Amino acid sequence: MAYQCPTCGEAAQRGGDRTAQAAAGLVGLLLYSAFAGYSCAKCGKIERASFPPEVRATMTRNSVLMVVGALVLLVALVGLMAALN
Ligand SMILES: [Zn+2]
Repeated sequence: MAYQCPTCGEAAQRGGDRTAQAAAGLVGLLLYSAFAGYSCAKCGKIERASFPPEVRATMTRNSVLMVVGALVLLVALVGLMAALN
């Protein structure tokens, strides 16, 4: 999912620290992505407030979906571990 930088129109990305994302694992990655800020390759960090309201609404919805996805994954992992023990 890509968003447009409100300043230059280039693609903006969530977060940016790939190493931290890899270290956190899949659940951490989802949670991290849900709350990470946005950055543009040209302008650097983008304030959430500078995005248009409809884009912010999409971001919020996607963040909620990511958190729900992370929780479902976590519950599935715990269930799997309980089943194996
Ligand atoms: Zn930009």
